[in-house]
Amino acid sequence: MIELVEAEEPDTGEDGPEDVLIVVHARPAKGRRQRCGICQRRCARYDNGEGRRRWRALDLGTLQAVIEADAPRVSCPEHGVTVAAVPWARHGAGHTLPFDDQVAWLATHCSKTAITQLMRIGWRTVGNICTRAWAEVEERVDLLAGLRRIGIDEISYKRHHKYLTIVVDHASGRLLWAEAGRDKATLRKFFDLLGEERSKKITHVSADAAGWIATVVAERCPNAVRVMDPFHVVQVRREALCYREGWKDPPPGCRSSSVKLTAV
Ligand SMILES: [Zn+2]
Repeated sequence: MIELVEAEEPDTGEDGPEDVLIVVHARPAKGRRQRCGICQRRCARYDNGEGRRRWRALDLGTLQAVIEADAPRVSCPEHGVTVAAVPWARHGAGHTLPFDDQVAWLATHCSKTAITQLMRIGWRTVGNICTRAWAEVEERVDLLAGLRRIGIDEISYKRHHKYLTIVVDHASGRLLWAEAGRDKATLRKFFDLLGEERSKKITHVSADAAGWIATVVAERCPNAVRVMDPFHVVQVRREALCYREGWKDPPPGCRSSSVKLTAV
């Protein structure tokens, strides 16, 4: 419910006048008040919290806007004393729902610099917003449902000092899962998450020739065909050519192990 809309005069500081700020004074409709910020259950009022607070909203044209409202605390039997939920923002957020959603969408389409400049927020805030928005999506969407063909690989960061194991869905082309480490224990975590029944339904797994991937796939995906990803097919073929032609210096990108080459 909107109680009042006012234009707040700008502060005239050393940097000169800023734009007028549109302040929308609001309060949740009757049925949406005194609800736990985490589970939305209707609870007893605890206290006034820290009084009135503001949530940054999407700009109105060229003017900045905020929603201002009371932020009382409620006592939830399950979650204890929490700030009451408001229908225009996620729990713990300093921005409204449409603001969060716009930032989360931009994060999937724009560069870091474009988002931070356009929305006038820090990169850390973008991360927090994406985490909140994703938590909500994750409750509704099961990314691991109906998986049939997956790809497993590792990527390095910190100049090859650290590694991530990643799993992609070949049907959607989406990244499904990533975890620090590159060993059997790390990959087993993915299949633990997927569960035995769904792992059995995997029909194809692409990967490089890493033994630790092959071992885990063999034990967890008994019905899957293991295939080599195209990058490594090309790489290994090039190496085979080097070996056959007797080149002393293999081209860049080729490993020089004759054990692997003779296996082609
Ligand atoms: Zn609760």
